[in-house]
Amino acid sequence: MDSGSIVHAEKMQCSQCGKEYPLDKIAFRCRCEGSLDIIYDYKNVRKFILMADFIREPPWHWKYWMFYPVDDLTKSISFQEGGTPLLFSKSIGTEIGCELYFKYEGINPTGSFKDRGSSIEITKAFEMGKSSVCCASTGNMGASVSSYAAKAGIDCKVFVPENTPRLKIAQILGYGADVIKVKGTYADCLRLTEEVNRRYDVYLLGDYPYRCEGQKSVGFEIVDQFYWNVPDYIICPMGNGTLTRAIWKSLLELREVRLIDELPKIVGVQSEGCSPIVDALKNDIKKPIAIRKAKTIADAIACEDPIDGTEALDAIRESEGFAEVVSDEEILNSQKLLGRSEGLFAEPSGAVSTAGLIKYRERFKGKKVVCIITGHGLKRAPIGETPEIKTIKNNSNELDKIYP
Ligand SMILES: *Cc1c(COP(=O)(O)O)cnc(C)c1O
Ligand SMILES: [Zn+2]
Repeated sequence: MDSGSIVHAEKMQCSQCGKEYPLDKIAFRCRCEGSLDIIYDYKNVRKFILMADFIREPPWHWKYWMFYPVDDLTKSISFQEGGTPLLFSKSIGTEIGCELYFKYEGINPTGSFKDRGSSIEITKAFEMGKSSVCCASTGNMGASVSSYAAKAGIDCKVFVPENTPRLKIAQILGYGADVIKVKGTYADCLRLTEEVNRRYDVYLLGDYPYRCEGQKSVGFEIVDQFYWNVPDYIICPMGNGTLTRAIWKSLLELREVRLIDELPKIVGVQSEGCSPIVDALKNDIKKPIAIRKAKTIADAIACEDPIDGTEALDAIRESEGFAEVVSDEEILNSQKLLGRSEGLFAEPSGAVSTAGLIKYRERFKGKKVVCIITGHGLKRAPIGETPEIKTIKNNSNELDKIYP
């Protein structure tokens, strides 16, 4: 590392084979295909925590800057992401018999937790002087990086699969990025963007090391919001598995710097129509096997070949948690229930964790549980007819039909 005054990130290391990479060499993953971890000098990190007004500062994404690989904080690209509420559930928690909280990520600047990762990724791209970036996305990551790239003045192209919801595409276009619609799956988009990065001078964004670092703040905030205590369970929807991996990493790091002693169990939930990570756990294999084509209402977790699948599995196994699938119907029912009984509007993928909680409710009885609601309901229009809508003529006599 050169001049930076806050030297706390040390190196990158493969989470699978342990091979090390220097931080000034751009590497997206290891030659063995394993995901790379950023390793810090945790003595130094602890020093920063003790020095700063850390404990008194309210929880938000950049409060935990000492756990990010950023050299110059004055150049960070941020919309004040994170700092999302941890909400106590009266209705669903009581029904199940657990102490339940929702971490509601829908109020992030672009409506999903992806903004936490984007702030770090785009800050790094800006730091390195990149003028052009690309990413593969099922919609939310694309919207998020487009917004941050616009603020940093960086050209951005987003590769999306052909069945991407129209509202998500509209959001990406709204931030001025180019949308490239690929006649194929999300996994196909991923392969193409990695190829773009190899062939042209275009920086690759996605579920790579810097994003994982940013998404750790979900975990930091949960523990902070519990006054440095941990819940029994954290339930997380899994697409690429990066959020699951990032939350686990955040907890290990908090333990490393001695802010906590205990660790929660991590529960990962996938959709029946795309469950490579859950399948690998059930079949007791180390690495998920890619599926051909995802088929699920939960479009944000339709990742056929999950980038951090092995690492998410490692997190679940190490924490002694578990992983299960839910059906589209269970997801839509949970989405409805979250709106009606908790006043929380989630997109289908955001309701997947709650669907898992409800389906496996017996395992959570009497426990302290956090469900991550990953994305806002406004991100996706309902499918098909909406029979709940009552239509009336513009005539006051009609009101009697509504209030009989
Ligand atoms: C990206 C995303 C997920 C899945 O996160 P991974 O890190 O890919 O596992 C879940 N829900 C929403 C709303 C998302 O945008
Ligand atoms: Zn490796």
